[in-house]
Amino acid sequence: MITSTTFVDLCVKELELCKVREGETVAVLSQMDERLDYADAFLAAAHKLGATPFHVRLPEASTSLTGDAGAWTVGNTPLASNPAALDALKSADLVIDLMFLLFSREQLAIQAAGARMLLCVEPVDNLSRLFPTADQRRRVEVSEELLGRARSLRITNTAGTDVVYQLGTLPVMTEYGYTDQPGRWDHWPAGFLFTGAPDDGVDGTVVVDRGDIIITPFKKFVEDPVEITIEAGLIQDIRGGFDAELLRDYIAGFEDEKAYGISHIGWGCNEKARWSGLANDRRSIGMESRCFYGNTLFSTGPNVELGGTNDTECHIDIPMRNCSMFLDDEPVLIDGEFVIEDLRASRAPFAPPSVARA
Ligand code: FE
Repeated sequence: MITSTTFVDLCVKELELCKVREGETVAVLSQMDERLDYADAFLAAAHKLGATPFHVRLPEASTSLTGDAGAWTVGNTPLASNPAALDALKSADLVIDLMFLLFSREQLAIQAAGARMLLCVEPVDNLSRLFPTADQRRRVEVSEELLGRARSLRITNTAGTDVVYQLGTLPVMTEYGYTDQPGRWDHWPAGFLFTGAPDDGVDGTVVVDRGDIIITPFKKFVEDPVEITIEAGLIQDIRGGFDAELLRDYIAGFEDEKAYGISHIGWGCNEKARWSGLANDRRSIGMESRCFYGNTLFSTGPNVELGGTNDTECHIDIPMRNCSMFLDDEPVLIDGEFVIEDLRASRAPFAPPSVARA
């Protein structure tokens, strides 16, 4: 159990990584009575560093982030109808988002005003266990360079995936767990990166295999393969067993053609995150699943955070294991293992030699 004093210390370490300096303004954004203990810890931490903190607390909430109630919608938040609160956030040097503004136009407005932004909604022990490191940032930024140069990305796996993304139109976004550059957003904890194709720039088949994770919105390990056929950036077909039925029905529920679009694509770099983490801990919004080392993070739905035009509220994130990934035909991952030396963590995830890998 982490005491609140320790949590304040952890927030101080995080704000130091974010280069919070004396005289800066740190805004903490929360909704209703959610994460008020987090707000207190960040306010105390910012104060300790000589910054001027303040708290913006909204009287209404977005749809439940836990996914336990209703659809896990994104982009539509109560900040949209509160211009005074938005103006206050735009005036800060750093905004700590405790409610989840990702995919909203308000987040883009805050970033455009020059504030750096940090999302923080995971359980405190995850924040501590998956705490960011400078080496993780280095590997994410090497990855960013590789992905930023590529014009095509091909993914395969033994279950039958063979899909190609046309790259070069949309930017690469990194998440290494802290942010020290004006206008830059990040998420604590993290450790992955992604880009996207133009709206019509994805073709092929993605076969989500047994053991892959539909983290958003179901938080579940897939039990039988799901075959997703994509043509010109739109899902044409979803075949398989029970998991395919769930996905088909969930997406159809949005009654939105844009829900069939393809969203971000990238890979995970956090050697402290475990693939199996979700099996015994369902509290989080799944950052451990998104960032585990060597995963291929496939997703569907909106691409507004990358500057695209798809603003559907239906977003699905699927971290996949054991994929091979090629940038302009050059391998980055083979069967889920990094083949580029610079991308390998100095301490690979622990795997006892006596236990066979999947
Ligand atoms: Fe996502």
